[in-house]
Amino acid sequence: MAFAFSPNGRPYILAAAGTEVMQRVGDEDEVTYFLKTHRRPALWDFEGGAEPVILDSDWDDLVEPFAFSPDGQFFVWASYHQATPGVWDTQSGAALGEISGHTGRVSAFALSPDGHLIVSVSDDQTLKLWDFESRTELATLPIALSVGGIAFHPASPQFACSVPDKNATLLRADATSLGQQAWDRQIYDLFGIEYGPIVVTAVDRDGDLAVRCPGCLAALHVKRSQLGTEMPCSQAGCGARLRLNSFALT
Ligand SMILES: [Zn+2]
Repeated sequence: MAFAFSPNGRPYILAAAGTEVMQRVGDEDEVTYFLKTHRRPALWDFEGGAEPVILDSDWDDLVEPFAFSPDGQFFVWASYHQATPGVWDTQSGAALGEISGHTGRVSAFALSPDGHLIVSVSDDQTLKLWDFESRTELATLPIALSVGGIAFHPASPQFACSVPDKNATLLRADATSLGQQAWDRQIYDLFGIEYGPIVVTAVDRDGDLAVRCPGCLAALHVKRSQLGTEMPCSQAGCGARLRLNSFALT
């Protein structure tokens, strides 16, 4: 089962992809959450309390991983037993194609902060880097069989994935071994690839809009007319290019 919040402003959409979907019942004073079985991915208005929208899909399987694009327009999910993650439109719920190339279950993936790249790891013991828009494969690397998770760096073209730490052994208090259960991280640099403008979302504080630059972490004031446009970071020496989402968080 996988959960993700859309990055869009209110109403937040909670995508519950898996065998269970949270539902809210009761009045404002007494709200209870319970789990209801759904095998297909669902989009749920987190604040509205309405029935979740169950997506029309042939897949009837445990679904994970799951991720929204940085601008919230798309989401990607993979079925537990299939090798092809699907791309979907958040607003319409329409299927927008699949990412085909792995031959085993895709256990984890991540979208780059500019929304242009997706990296995936699979039980076929490969890691693949893709162009997200065209769904074309850019690179394939061999990996260990069990990769726990994967994430892009928020500002520079790198990603990290968790791999079993072969040198780590957990010991009980009486010094008997529990086996190799620790994890380590592996960092990959994307040589020859630069991020495009990094997608950021402005925060609205009493009418004042600001974004935080992922490159230098400075808070930058922006005008409402700049929402949906690109801008360079104004901090000296930063050089980051930012793409402001058209919505702001309040
Ligand atoms: Zn900056």
